[in-house]
Amino acid sequence: MRMYDLITKKKHGGELTREEIHEMIHGYVNGEIPDYQMSAMLMAICFQGMTEKETADLTLEMAHSGDMVDLSAIKGIKVDKHSTGGVGDKTTLVIGPIVAACGAKVAKMSGRGLGHTGGTIDKLEAIPGFQVALDQDKFIDVVNKVGVSVVGQSGNLAPADKKLYALRDVTATVDSIPLISSSIMSKKLAAGSDCILLDVKTGSGAFMRTVDDAVELAQRMVAIGEHAGRKTMAVITDMDIPLGYAVGNSLEVIEAVETLQGHGPDDFTQVCKILATNMLYLAGKGAIEECKKLVDEAISSGAALKKLVEMVEAQGGDSSVILDTNKFKKAPYQYEVKATQDGYISHMDTEQCGIASVVLGAGRETKDSIIDYSAGILLHKKTGAYVKRGDVLATLYASKEELFPKAEEILTEAYTFSKEPITSRPLVLAKVSSQGVERY
Ligand code: URA
Repeated sequence: MRMYDLITKKKHGGELTREEIHEMIHGYVNGEIPDYQMSAMLMAICFQGMTEKETADLTLEMAHSGDMVDLSAIKGIKVDKHSTGGVGDKTTLVIGPIVAACGAKVAKMSGRGLGHTGGTIDKLEAIPGFQVALDQDKFIDVVNKVGVSVVGQSGNLAPADKKLYALRDVTATVDSIPLISSSIMSKKLAAGSDCILLDVKTGSGAFMRTVDDAVELAQRMVAIGEHAGRKTMAVITDMDIPLGYAVGNSLEVIEAVETLQGHGPDDFTQVCKILATNMLYLAGKGAIEECKKLVDEAISSGAALKKLVEMVEAQGGDSSVILDTNKFKKAPYQYEVKATQDGYISHMDTEQCGIASVVLGAGRETKDSIIDYSAGILLHKKTGAYVKRGDVLATLYASKEELFPKAEEILTEAYTFSKEPITSRPLVLAKVSSQGVERY
């Protein structure tokens, strides 16, 4: 097999065989295929696409390029969740404990922030002492004892994706549905759970800007998961508005705790309940209505909050900050961003809200940036709200006052106002399963 011939085949719209994809991925991971040839192939895939079978084969080859995590030592059904990324998305911190409190097992590998989007691992590290790097035995032990553990991705999980993702990032080949779906699903398959719920975000803060693109991505990923023998479903959720009010690591952990206490923001609470309900459904805990009840009870009884405390303690964290969130270290400086006009907030550029939070120190400007866990934004007004000039739109938190002007400028520009009230769109826009697509 010559890589040159495979590039030519794909350039003309041909379908690569499983064997060809195997040779290509194997050769690339081993360093036998150079970046320039793989870049040409990625660009050809961007233009020509891939069939469902090719995408599934590519995913399996990428998943098998490294360790396939064996979770068989965990008793019960293991259910995983993956969000395609957004702003204020702290759902894992709430859903993991709820699902564990309802008797399914969550053995989850999460990522760090990427660009304007936050990452669960960064949020967990805002809890003093919390260990995100557990060895396999300890990880399994925590899941068996507590029901939930969230750790960072192990070094050798889907190494082909690590190498390809870095190449895509610099060759303008990220935004391809077969490439995104194989990237995400290779990691999910390698991570070993029986069931996978995908939370595909759509809107101005997401990779998929339109619902149609999000549905197409979801269909591809569901097909890959099912083809690999995992029960897989996707919900398409709104990311045209930041989720909840908190953006930034400690602030988001506090909001997650409030949600588990039963007084979180409505939008965030609803999305968490929907995701947890569907995870339990996938795990065979009953019909959707029964799973909904289980979720409500797990929150109202305090059982889910107790699970978060147990997980934090099992992973070396200081649970006193969960029991009393006033103990989280506060940012030394605060700044209020005020509305410059009267009117309804008609839109928020959610990517820009995420960037403003990164500018304050809550995310990484470069690969080596150190995160300021106390930094971020507490939004007071979001899309749909009526404001008067001078009303506080958001409070900014930072450790350096000089960061405020740039963050304020970005955040102010993210808001659009209108004289007319606006109609909000639903939080869940569609559901995709092997049975088909349901749009709401
Ligand atoms: N997240 C991933 O893991 N991969 C992609 O390609 C896009 C989002």
